Formats: sequence, C-alpha cells, structure tokens
Amino acid sequence: MKCIVNEELCIGCGTCPAVAPNSFAMNDETNKAEAINPPGDTDETVKMAVDSCPTAAISCEE
Ligand code: SF4
Repeated sequence: MKCIVNEELCIGCGTCPAVAPNSFAMNDETNKAEAINPPGDTDETVKMAVDSCPTAAISCEE
C-alpha cells in the first residue's frame, strides 16, 4: 500500500497520526500530515485513518 496526503486539503488536525502513528506524521514546519511509505500499520488501521480524515485529504492505493 502507498498513501499520499493532499497538503491543500489537510487542515493539520492531527487525527491521522493519532490513528495510525506508523503511517502518518505531522510535519512541524508546515503543520500538515505526511504519509510514511510503506505504511507501518495494518491495512485496516490505515483505512481507519483515511476514513477519519475530516477533509478526505488522504488517498491510498494497493
Ligand atoms: S486527518 Fe486529514 S486533515 Fe487531519 S492531519 Fe491527517 S490528513 Fe490532515
């Protein structure tokens, strides 16, 4: 799996690294999330993070 965060859509809420801390991290300079590839969490956890994003900024593909 590979994920990307659309920085234009990310509002820096911090939810995705809270849900999947081995797959997403906050960039301290931009205050936007960044995807860690390959994700370090299970697919199920990554999908939970994707679904939890309030702005649908995360997209993943197999
Ligand atoms: S959950 Fe969405 S809006 Fe929140 S930090 Fe992650 S990518 Fe950004």
